[in-house]
Amino acid sequence: MPSLATLSVDLNALAHNFHALEAIARVPVHPVVKADAYGLGAIPVARRLMAEGARTFFVARASGGFALREALGPEPVIHVLDGCVGDGAPALIAAGLSPILNHGDQLAAWRAAGGGACGLQIDTGMNRLGFRPEEAPEPFPGLGLVMSHLACADTPDTPMNRQQRDAFATAVQRYPGVVRSFANSGGVFLGPDFGFDAVRPGISLYGSGPEGRPDARLKAVATFMAEVLQVRDVPVGESVGYSQGFRAETPRRIAVCAAGYADGVLRSTSPWGAVWLGGALRSIVGRVSMDVIAVDVTGTDVAVGDRAELFGANRSLDEAATAAGTIAYELLTSVTPRVPRVYSG
Ligand SMILES: *Cc1c(COP(=O)(O)O)cnc(C)c1O
Repeated sequence: MPSLATLSVDLNALAHNFHALEAIARVPVHPVVKADAYGLGAIPVARRLMAEGARTFFVARASGGFALREALGPEPVIHVLDGCVGDGAPALIAAGLSPILNHGDQLAAWRAAGGGACGLQIDTGMNRLGFRPEEAPEPFPGLGLVMSHLACADTPDTPMNRQQRDAFATAVQRYPGVVRSFANSGGVFLGPDFGFDAVRPGISLYGSGPEGRPDARLKAVATFMAEVLQVRDVPVGESVGYSQGFRAETPRRIAVCAAGYADGVLRSTSPWGAVWLGGALRSIVGRVSMDVIAVDVTGTDVAVGDRAELFGANRSLDEAATAAGTIAYELLTSVTPRVPRVYSG
C-alpha cells in the first residue's frame, strides 16, 4: 500500500546542485552527509555524489561513518567531525575513517592508538569545536586536512566572516601541503577567497540557497507530500482543529491532509504555514495535529486523494522553514522515519 505521506528525493537535482556548487567554488566539493544526509538518506545521496565525482565526505558521528564505509567501499575519504571520542580510535582505524581531531586529548588518544589519516579543526572564533589557533599542534604524520567553520556564513555582511577567514589563513601557514577546508554552503557564496582547497557544503546540496532564501542556481532535491484524507465544508462560526485554532468567518472548504508533527510538520508551522495544493499555495489553518493538517481549499475542486506539497519545487524548503520560524536544516532533519524516502534519478 503506498504511503499517504512521502519524502521524494530527486538524485538528479542533487547532482545538479553538486556541480553548481563546484562551478561557484572552483575547488573540489566535499559533501557533508551528516545526520543521514540531513534526513534524505546518506547512503543513496553519497552513492550518487560519488558517481558525480565526490571522493571525500563528512559525517558528524562515527556511527554515520561506519554505515557509509560499508556502503561506499574502501575508496572515498570519510571524515568524522566529532573526532576521536573516548576509546573509539581502534574502531575508526579498523573502518578506515578519518577523525577531525578537535582538542589535545583527542590527538593524544589518536596517537596512542597508532593514529593514521586524520584531520584537524581550528576554531577561528565560533567557540564550538576545534583547537584555538594558539593551541594548534605542530604538523604530524597522517594529517591530511585542516579545517575551520564559519559562525555567520548566512549573513554575508557580518565582519566576523572575514575575521575568521583571515585567522584561518594565518593558522594554516603552519601546515604546508595539507588540504585546507573552510567554507560550508554559506561560505561557498561568500566569494572565492573563502574556498581554500576544498569546500564542505551540506544544505545547499539539498536545495537551500544562500542566506536561507531560494536560489535559481540550485534545484529542489526533497519533496514532502501528503495526501488529502477528507474534504469538508465548515459553516460560518464553526472552528477547525484543536483549541479552535481557526474559526470560519465565511463558509470554508477544508482539506485534511495526512501529515502532522509525528511526520515532521513542525507545530510552529501554524499560523503562517502553507502548502501547494490544487495548483496554488493554500494556507494551513488551525493547529498542526499529530497526524494531519487542515488546509483551506475554499473555491477549489481539491478532492480526496490529491496530494499537498509541504515543500519541494513549488513550495520552497526555505520558505516553508521561514513560515515555521526555523531554518531549512531543521525542517529537513525533522521529517520522521514514518515518512518513506522515495528516490528518483
Ligand atoms: C554541518 C557542517 C557543514 C555543512 O554546513 P552547511 O551549512 O549545511 O553547508 C560544514 N562544516 C561543518 C563543521 C559542519 O558542522
